[in-house]
Amino acid sequence: MDWQATLPPAEFADKPIIESEEVERCPVCDGSRFHQHAVGFDYESLTCRNPWRFVRCEKCAHVWLNPRPTVANLSIIYPPTYYSYNYTQQVNAIARIGKQWLDSGKMKSIVKRLDRAPRSYLDIGCGDGRFLRTMEKRGIPRDRLYGLELDERVVGSLVAEGYQAYNRRVEDCTEISPGSIDLATMFHVIEHVADPASVVRKIREWLPVGGVLAAETPNVDSLDARKFSERFWGGYHIPRHWNLFSPPTLKKLFEDNGFDVIATSFQTGHSFWMYSYQHSLNFGKRPNKRLARFFNPLKSLAFLMAFTAFDKLRAAMGARTSAMLMLARRRD
Ligand SMILES: [Zn+2]
Repeated sequence: MDWQATLPPAEFADKPIIESEEVERCPVCDGSRFHQHAVGFDYESLTCRNPWRFVRCEKCAHVWLNPRPTVANLSIIYPPTYYSYNYTQQVNAIARIGKQWLDSGKMKSIVKRLDRAPRSYLDIGCGDGRFLRTMEKRGIPRDRLYGLELDERVVGSLVAEGYQAYNRRVEDCTEISPGSIDLATMFHVIEHVADPASVVRKIREWLPVGGVLAAETPNVDSLDARKFSERFWGGYHIPRHWNLFSPPTLKKLFEDNGFDVIATSFQTGHSFWMYSYQHSLNFGKRPNKRLARFFNPLKSLAFLMAFTAFDKLRAAMGARTSAMLMLARRRD
């Protein structure tokens, strides 16, 4: 069946159809041959009733959304309630403490891989600035702590506190001087951008030779991604994730754009597990909406803790979870 004829679930009846554009070349290797990988709808936010398709490159196996929403429609697929600073208001206190614990472990694992302590730091998609604060505690002054964030309200309050925060996409940012950033992080950002190669090249200019970029992104080659690959994987985040990497394709992206990969580790993909089950229970062959509510990662603490523990254990045993963290060092 033609994927474009896939009918949306009844819940999408009053949602708009938005404009989309074809992406005919692989964003990683520029290959032009691909096949269908998955088809689905915006199961998480129900912003539009378009069916969306992921395709897989026949040359390098990269997965990307094709077609994808046009830039003019970003305000529809990212409603005001979307942004991450809402996280602190939506989840309960215990989940928040758990997240702080995971975040600080993640930052520790990055810093210990560096040859020397960074003297400047940039967080791309910095939200309310929680990682800027973490690095401030490690001794970096606020005038060398940079953040890019698309939510202008949080940028305003970070600037008022003395951080170097800008309401910019990487592609449009002209405020950061070349070579001025020792460490840049990008947690769950690269999968959202239209042209990941040009974003990586732009960040490269901001780093000195030897400077490090750490990127965390969904791993399309993981247990949950395979189990729910046809339609409901939480990591698809349809239609907001435009590029889905695996360890080899992310490595290729870095190496082709002036970086050497120095480490790859796997974090917990608890939210993807929960959304995968939630979408299946809401929209699958045998829907069970009451049960689906228990799989909301913002609300259901018991399942959140169970999936976090499950993935922590799997990562410790060497499994490749659905959240990979890759560190890459700028070549000359
Ligand atoms: Zn490719």
